[in-house]
Amino acid sequence: MFALVDCDSFFASCEQIFRPDLRGKPIVVLSNNDGCIVARNRQAKALQVPDLVAYFKVKQLLEKQQIEVFSSNYELYGDISARVMDRLQDFATDMEIYSIDEAFLLLPDLNIDDTNASQNSNAYWQYGRTIKKTIWKDIRVPVSVGIGATKTLAKLASHIAKQSLRCQGVCAIVNLPRWQKVFSRIPVKKIWGIGRKYASRLQADHIYSVWQLLNCNPKTIQRRYSVNLERTVEELNGIPCYGLEKEIPDKQQIISSRSFGKKITELEPLQQAISQYASRACQKLRTQNALATTINVFIQTSRFEEDYYAPALSIKLPCPTNDTRTIIHFARQAVWQLYKPHRRYAKAGVAITEIISRTPQQLDFLAPVQSSHSENLMQVLDTINQRSGSGTAFFLAQGIQQKWKMNRFMKSPSYTTRWLDLPCIMIR
Ligand SMILES: [Mg+2]
Repeated sequence: MFALVDCDSFFASCEQIFRPDLRGKPIVVLSNNDGCIVARNRQAKALQVPDLVAYFKVKQLLEKQQIEVFSSNYELYGDISARVMDRLQDFATDMEIYSIDEAFLLLPDLNIDDTNASQNSNAYWQYGRTIKKTIWKDIRVPVSVGIGATKTLAKLASHIAKQSLRCQGVCAIVNLPRWQKVFSRIPVKKIWGIGRKYASRLQADHIYSVWQLLNCNPKTIQRRYSVNLERTVEELNGIPCYGLEKEIPDKQQIISSRSFGKKITELEPLQQAISQYASRACQKLRTQNALATTINVFIQTSRFEEDYYAPALSIKLPCPTNDTRTIIHFARQAVWQLYKPHRRYAKAGVAITEIISRTPQQLDFLAPVQSSHSENLMQVLDTINQRSGSGTAFFLAQGIQQKWKMNRFMKSPSYTTRWLDLPCIMIR
């Protein structure tokens, strides 16, 4: 059996962990630069706060309804996610981290009597409840758990768990015929992997509900639609077609870019920003134990301004490298070439477009290679930043004040990843 564990309104839930005074209150989280709303918890949704709307448009409405607003705090969300995933391992024989707030678990055999369907379903439901209670007790993150014989059924179960109060956050689909009534009410678009396109094509063929699709002939579906949809039908019938995906493939391209908090006109802050992005890209490169051979540097003004200017430059590096110093050097040189004065730059970025693995590396006998001094220095840099928080050691080229940095005026402290942000408790 598979389980899908999904954190409820994850970003908002993370914000509530160290702010118990906000439990049960409406919360929204904003995107980079406090641009628009990217997450709302249940209470905020109930107050009709729209998703993905520009913050400035609803600012007054949020204030009036006393909705708490946070800038996105990815350091916090990343760390809490890692803790949840770590805890989930104990409940699974195998696991796939599906996204920052979701994981598929392969459940252990619960050793129950296969002939007794209702006892069976209850045992899985209880197991799901234990997962839910444990994550809440240990990390204070609410989760929903969906259980089924396939990944598609587990996903569907988690959808039901969220919708129905009776489920108490956990739904186990064990005996399919019993679900006819419920499945008949769920539209096909709620099924994992069925997008708007498929949903409307199915509708044209008079297939509206999950139950209808489940009863289609898989071969007919394959001929009329695709192999993928055939697999979905098989999965809905409890026949697993998808296993856990363990290996996250290494990225073939790394892009580090951001919009600035305010527009930049001068060369120096633009150089600082590009150095910062180059440094972040290099760090990612080293995490996947790879080297860059080509980088692409771009700067751009706002699309909405007259004279839109968005040049880019591709640079072949002298040797494959992941040394931040080298890449900062070439990225700054590129900006120097691209920069034109009297323009208001809104965004810049560094993309590492050609990546090769560090080991085994195919060497050209005569070609230069990265020195061991470089390797050692970068290792020291990464270790310091891992131990003491990212940005503890950095290159002066990245600037100290970073006035161009994106706005995150309402960011909560990085409670779990920065010593200075450690929460304090007063005991009187
Ligand atoms: Mg979620």
